[in-house]
Amino acid sequence: AAAKQLSEGVAGYQAGQDERHLRELTIIQDLPVALAANTLSICYQPKVSLQHQNCLAAEALIRWQHPSLGFIPPDEFIRLAEHSGHIQLVTDWMLSKVITQAALWQSSHPGLKLAVNLSPLDLIDEQLPTRIQQLLNQARVSAKVLALEVTEGAVMQDPERVIRNLHQLAALGVELAIDDFGTGHSSLAYLKLLPVHEVKIDRAFIKDIEHNSDDELIVEAASRLAKGLGFQITAEGLENRAGLTKLLALGCDTVQGYYFAKPMPATDFDHWLQQFQQTGADYFSEVNA
Ligand code: C2E
Ligand code: MG
Ligand code: MG
Ligand code: MG
Repeated sequence: AAAKQLSEGVAGYQAGQDERHLRELTIIQDLPVALAANTLSICYQPKVSLQHQNCLAAEALIRWQHPSLGFIPPDEFIRLAEHSGHIQLVTDWMLSKVITQAALWQSSHPGLKLAVNLSPLDLIDEQLPTRIQQLLNQARVSAKVLALEVTEGAVMQDPERVIRNLHQLAALGVELAIDDFGTGHSSLAYLKLLPVHEVKIDRAFIKDIEHNSDDELIVEAASRLAKGLGFQITAEGLENRAGLTKLLALGCDTVQGYYFAKPMPATDFDHWLQQFQQTGADYFSEVNA
């Protein structure tokens, strides 16, 4: 009986493996086709300045509704795109769409900055700064509209080359942010070498900050150190008002999270922003009480 159970278990595991394998193959095959056909989309999530009580920037997040697999989380297909050599297609598609959107929003939302996530592999691509400059020129927008988010780990694989590339990107006038800060292995000493403007503290330290004093301590230490080095501090993943009180007290500059808004399609973001300019102060009322 035990042997039968074992062999059924193995068969079940095998079936699960095959199913996952098939899903991955489908994703890898369909992604370049979907990009070329423009069937992916982008959501924008506000980044709110605590000092200005205003939204000065948004993060662009890729979305893929697959015809047979349904919604595929970006974490999943980005990882596969990195492994299959398709990540440059994804990054170029995003940059081109977001820069075009920035051009459209130039007059209605002057000064609004849009952030695009880069994969670690993008940072060893020495042509990237040139391609970004070309896209900005074509769209006739200033590099000031664009920010790029990179993770700590991105620097580790080929530090010299990556740091040189980051300096070239910064020289275009594009702002750089360290994403998911606190989850990788980079030291703040390393950050000092990078032309970085902003450090985004990972959601893992923010989500329970009103209950978890360890998280509070970590965020406080990270923001004090990063501030000392001249970086802006952004907290990712704020979901409630109690957390906002803490983040204000800890000296965070910018907050991003469901408390203010979830990522939205461009049209919804446009409406949200107009609304927020009227009623944004409500999100802060009673916060200091
Ligand atoms: P990320 O860059 O750290 O993006 C933030 C993620 O946190 C987004 O998930 C966002 O929807 C989510 N988030 C924001 N606020 C909250 C909150 O209050 N609560 C919760 N539970 N979640 C919140 P998303 O869109 O699923 O993206 C996941 C990751 O996929 C991103 O993490 C980024 O690493 C990657 N990604 C997304 N779009 C792109 C892209 O265009 N290019 C690359 N290379 N990576 C991308
Ligand atoms: Mg990001
Ligand atoms: Mg992040
Ligand atoms: Mg992340």
